[in-house]
Amino acid sequence: MEIKGFDVGNDFLTKEWLQTIQWSAGTEDVMLPDILRLDLIHPLISGNKWLKLEGWIEAFNNSHAKGIVTTGGLWSNFLHACGYACFMHKIPLHVLIKGNANMHNPMLDDLKRWNVEITFIHRHQFYDTSFGQDIAHAKGFFYIPMGGDGEQGEKGVIRWMNALPLKQYDILCCASGTGTTASGIAKSNIAFNNLWVFDPGTGDESIQQKCNELSTLIPEKNIRLFQLKNRFGKLTPALEAFMIHWFNQTNIPLDFVYTAPMCFRLQSMLAAGEMRKECSILIVHTGGLQGNRSHPLLPKG
Ligand SMILES: *Cc1c(COP(=O)(O)O)cnc(C)c1O
Repeated sequence: MEIKGFDVGNDFLTKEWLQTIQWSAGTEDVMLPDILRLDLIHPLISGNKWLKLEGWIEAFNNSHAKGIVTTGGLWSNFLHACGYACFMHKIPLHVLIKGNANMHNPMLDDLKRWNVEITFIHRHQFYDTSFGQDIAHAKGFFYIPMGGDGEQGEKGVIRWMNALPLKQYDILCCASGTGTTASGIAKSNIAFNNLWVFDPGTGDESIQQKCNELSTLIPEKNIRLFQLKNRFGKLTPALEAFMIHWFNQTNIPLDFVYTAPMCFRLQSMLAAGEMRKECSILIVHTGGLQGNRSHPLLPKG
């Protein structure tokens, strides 16, 4: 079977995309969750961002616009993935980044290498969605919302999930930012009883709304939102220690913003006996490893 997608991910199914790990939380209980390694999709186009981009780039192609405008933060996984995808397909890309012109980091260096036009914008412009839309409109460009959020992004996720031969699970675990990926997973053909969505401290209230809508749409599934108490994107010493411990146990690198806080929480639930060790679990690894470059000592795979 082949997954269509601009040459990215075509060989995904030949990789070890589904791995079972042995996971203990210091107690005698060992769990054997499966990990869906979306981080293996492509060395530069990270995890779930490619799924969403597939949907968005298809919409761009149908729009006959001259290029793409999108927006994000200084370490944005979405901008990184979008930058490389546009470079590959020779699509002009203009990104609006929250920050100021003196800023430098490896993510920005990559974008420059891929001929991405960068404009630094202020906070208030960043949170004003019409700002980016207006710039796109003025240039005859196509606008993609921050993080690849929206129906097109969700469509890409659903298409990928439907193409993956997965068994039935009691619990699917997925970290959320915009919630697009979790929502696409919920609407796909994957057979599951519970979807656990982990908000790693974004403070975004709309994620609860999205989960409520999903529960209404598919009442036969349990959708549960865990709002973690962390500060979003903060690498605490405890989280760092967990990431190194996890990597030593599993040989799978996690990203410190999304997947590590989720797995850290799952580990504490396991240690507290809040999870039945015999239940079947799929943890979705949504990628994001390029962001670990902001902390030199983290495992990068
Ligand atoms: C962006 C991102 C998410 C969140 O995806 P949404 O579709 O916005 O909810 C989760 N994990 C990683 C690694 C990400 O980069």
